[in-house]
Amino acid sequence: MNLDDKLATLKYTPDSVSHLKPNNADCKTCKNRPCENVCPAGVYEWLEDEQKLLVKYENCLECGACRIVCEKQSLDWEYPKGTKGVMFKKG
Ligand code: SF4
Ligand code: SF4
Repeated sequence: MNLDDKLATLKYTPDSVSHLKPNNADCKTCKNRPCENVCPAGVYEWLEDEQKLLVKYENCLECGACRIVCEKQSLDWEYPKGTKGVMFKKG
């Protein structure tokens, strides 16, 4: 099963607020922005014009990799509240 097939087995119920909160002051001076490369769901994108890290938190698979690799160790990461976030589909 390839990654696209696996992603198709997931169901997302996005929260109205992000459970991923980068410190944008740190992101501005972050050298390599490893969060962009490590995320299997393409959640992070550095917007050069806006000098801001775009966070498409609705796509998050809750793997935790971005928190581990954050160059500044400043990514505020928590699980989505209650029944929000990612679930495996049944059947
Ligand atoms: S690795 Fe951390 S500090 Fe660097 S861009 Fe990503 S969230 Fe920001
Ligand atoms: S927890 Fe995993 S899927 Fe979610 S944003 Fe971080 S690296 Fe991407």
